[in-house]
Amino acid sequence: MIQVGAVSYTDARAWFARLGYRPQANDNARALVLKGTAGGTLRFEADSREATLHGLRIFLGEAAVMARGSIFVPTVDLERFLTPIVRPSQFKAPPLRTIVIDAGHGGNDTGTRNQARKLDEKDFTLDVARRLEKLLGQDRWRVLMTRKDDRFVELPERAEFANRAKADLFVSIHFNAVANNSGVRGTETYVLTPQFMRSTSSAKITTDDRTAQPGNKYDAWSAVLGYHMHRELLTELKTEDRGFKRARFAVLRLVDCPAVLVEAGYLSNDTEAQMIATAAYRARIAEALYSAIVAYDATRVAAGR
Ligand SMILES: [Zn+2]
Repeated sequence: MIQVGAVSYTDARAWFARLGYRPQANDNARALVLKGTAGGTLRFEADSREATLHGLRIFLGEAAVMARGSIFVPTVDLERFLTPIVRPSQFKAPPLRTIVIDAGHGGNDTGTRNQARKLDEKDFTLDVARRLEKLLGQDRWRVLMTRKDDRFVELPERAEFANRAKADLFVSIHFNAVANNSGVRGTETYVLTPQFMRSTSSAKITTDDRTAQPGNKYDAWSAVLGYHMHRELLTELKTEDRGFKRARFAVLRLVDCPAVLVEAGYLSNDTEAQMIATAAYRARIAEALYSAIVAYDATRVAAGR
C-alpha cells in the first residue's frame, strides 16, 4: 500500500491477481488492462478517475496513480466497490423480500423539465415506477412505492418509508437535465459514496466525507446492485454511457438497505426527451430495471451458497 495525501492506494495488479485477473498487453504504458479468467476486462489509467469495468464506464474516488512501475487504485474503491462487483461471494448475501420503488419528485416539485416540449420529470419517474411495480408483481417479492400518484414527498420521508417497511432494496428513478448544453445525453447510475471518499462530482475530499452514513453499511451490495442497473440500462437503451458514479443523495444516505438511483436519460436533450415521452421507451426502461433486480437476486443467491 502507498499513501498519497490522505488517500491509501493499493497495487491493482496484485489485488486483482488474487481474484483471477491477469494483466494484458496494451498500447498505453500508463494504463493497466486486466482480464478475468471467467471473462470480463478491467482498465485503469494513471492520473484518471475514469476506469472501465466489464465494458462499463466507472469513476474511482480518486485518480489512479503510477508508482513503482505499477498502477495503484484507491483502497476504498478496491474494497467497497470493485471487489464486491467482481467477487460478490466474498460478501455476506443480504435478504431480498421487500423492494421499495421510489418515483423521483412529485406535486409542486416537478423535477427537471423540457420547457419547449412541456415535459416534467415527475410524470415520467412515476410512469416508469408503475411499470416496474407491475413487472415485479407481488408473488415473488413484496413491492412498495414511495408515491403512487402526483404528490410531493420529502426526501427523508422516502427513506423513512423504506426503513419502516424493512425494505431489502431501494430503487430511485430519475431523469436528468443540464443547463446550457442540450447535446449532453445518456444514462447515469449512482450508489452512495463510501466513507473516506469524495463523491464523483466533488472537487476535493472534505470533512463531511469522513462521516459514515446509515447506507454505508450496504456499500458492497449497493455496488453489485448499481453495476447490474447500469449494465442493464445501457444494454436495453443503447444510450451513451455517462458513468456508474457515487453521490451522497439523501435517499441513498438514509435508507437501511442496498440502494441505487438511476438517471435514465436527459430531458434537456431534445432527442432523448422525445424518446422518454413515448410509452414504448419508458416500458424499456422499466424492463431494464426489472432485469437488473433479477440479476441482483441471482447474484445474491449464488453468493449465499
Ligand atoms: Zn430527479
